[in-house]
Amino acid sequence: MLGGAPEALTCSRAGCADRAGWRIDWRNPRIHTGDRSKTWLACDEHVDYLREFLAAREFPLTVSAVAEVDA
Ligand SMILES: [Zn+2]
Repeated sequence: MLGGAPEALTCSRAGCADRAGWRIDWRNPRIHTGDRSKTWLACDEHVDYLREFLAAREFPLTVSAVAEVDA
């Protein structure tokens, strides 16, 4: 089901084109049924912003380093 890491590892924050070192896998229980989830990529600067954005909505999320995927 997983197709590997996205080719373009750029931050998902609007207006940011930095290289992403983090991935945030998250799920909105209201619209994502079963095992469906979304993945955002984040640079060092925006990983906290994006994580808190989701956490404030109480969405389940997992933050992991992109480097682990590359290896
Ligand atoms: Zn960024």
